[in-house]
Amino acid sequence: MAQDDVFKKLVAHSKEYGYVFPSSEIYDGLSAVYDYGQYGVELKNNIKKYWWDSMVLLHDNIVGIDSAIFMHPTIWKASGHVDAFNDPLIDNRDSKKRYRADVLIEEHLAKIEEKISKEVEKARERFGEAFDEMKFRETNQRVLANQAKIDELNARFSKALNDTDLAELRQIIIDNEIVCPISGSRNWTEVRQFNLMFSTEMGSTLEGSNKIYLRPETAQGIFVNFLNVQKTGRMKIPFGIAQIGKAFRNEIVARQFIFRMREFEQMEMQYFVQPGSELEWFAIWKEARMLWHQALGFGAENYRFHDHVKLAHYANAATDIEYRFPFGFKEVEGIHSRTDYDLSQHQKYSGKKIQYFDPEKGESYVPYVIETSIGVDRMFLQVMAASYWEEELKKEDGSSDTRVVLRLPAFLAPVKLAVMPLVKKDGLPEIAEKIVHNLKFEFNCQYDDKDSIGRRYRRQDAIGTPYCITIDHQTIDDRSVTIRYRDSMKQERVKIEALLDIIKEKVSIVSLLRNI
Ligand code: ATP
Repeated sequence: MAQDDVFKKLVAHSKEYGYVFPSSEIYDGLSAVYDYGQYGVELKNNIKKYWWDSMVLLHDNIVGIDSAIFMHPTIWKASGHVDAFNDPLIDNRDSKKRYRADVLIEEHLAKIEEKISKEVEKARERFGEAFDEMKFRETNQRVLANQAKIDELNARFSKALNDTDLAELRQIIIDNEIVCPISGSRNWTEVRQFNLMFSTEMGSTLEGSNKIYLRPETAQGIFVNFLNVQKTGRMKIPFGIAQIGKAFRNEIVARQFIFRMREFEQMEMQYFVQPGSELEWFAIWKEARMLWHQALGFGAENYRFHDHVKLAHYANAATDIEYRFPFGFKEVEGIHSRTDYDLSQHQKYSGKKIQYFDPEKGESYVPYVIETSIGVDRMFLQVMAASYWEEELKKEDGSSDTRVVLRLPAFLAPVKLAVMPLVKKDGLPEIAEKIVHNLKFEFNCQYDDKDSIGRRYRRQDAIGTPYCITIDHQTIDDRSVTIRYRDSMKQERVKIEALLDIIKEKVSIVSLLRNI
């Protein structure tokens, strides 16, 4: 199936099965804003728990906070967001569509990279076992020519971004004959800067109101609480502060479902370290975060690092963890070595000393920071994309049928167990209800007695429930039920009393956490 189709199906499936709804839908929606439905909220909470526990529960030197969305406006001056949290935008005069100039260039680069990958794959098929990819990349003329194009474009692009040279960004688009994907034309406007922060007023106009911002990242709430946490928690460096919370960005291009939203949620952890040790910690967190992703079992080949060539002025190392979405490899998480930039800036703007007295060194310093920053919603999309599966099933009469199944890792699944009486009589519903009543203290169970058993299984497959049990007449005689496994569709008979042990272990976060 074409990847575009997979993505469309995923969006439709998310809505049909109560995962994600367009916001304000009865009023025709609000662009790039989404609501999570009855199953979506459970999956989202489970993702957050996986992240939170992996940070706060497993590290005795990482603690959490929950800071306010509204903050003193000077914070955003100090952090650089008022002056520099901009995206370069460009409009196409024919389609009237707006784009991020940097994204247009990045997509152009990705297309050239794709040409190289295709060339490599073709050669791999031709040469079979004997294929030496490195040698091929170093000698094939077409690959070399395309690689030269990429290197040249990358150098020009980085320089334009570093110099904030908007005219040059436009010139790159013109020189590379980049067209508008909608109109197909090259009728571009000038490139302009656009600040991504939303603002509002605090206080009534009578008493004088203040312009304040909706935070575009949760990180600053951590930095301004550095001293509070360090002192009250008696934290010793190295230590981390973790936070999960909403962030808001007035994104110019927001067309990819929950991949790029105007209101979204972040899970950020700032790790405070001794100056000079930051690159070591950067390497450690880079590896730890990749392990966290891969422990979900979606295939190591679907992840890669994208090390930044162009670094923000305050960073001395940065990388993204990218996942292979149906629309290509895209960033899910950023890991940045932010030096002492943020704390120093707040020290300067607030006039308060923000330093750590290191008892071992006998001196005070502004700690350096390693940041790990991941979007909950993007992670949610990654999990959905990795789990959505259509399976061709052969029927007994030779015809075939398609089963849609969300192969969610059991810990993340919104419903762990569906309990189904085969028929709605003979005392079977009562037995089923009793099982739900007993097990609901342990994990999320659902009672389901509507429609045929086959349709009920399909419904549970579509929402990703890993286990279904069926109560039938034999249950009355010997207290056994049929347990059916979502992925293999295998069924076996087990005693009611054994259910807790069989399921609890498999749906628990513990085994997942032990893998990281
Ligand atoms: P992008 O380049 O995709 O705009 P970014 O580099 O600006 O992302 P960061 O500022 O590093 O992103 O934010 C950290 C994480 O927050 C990202 O890796 C992503 O998972 C998430 N995120 C950022 N912007 C959005 C958004 N508009 N919608 C959903 N998630 C987002």
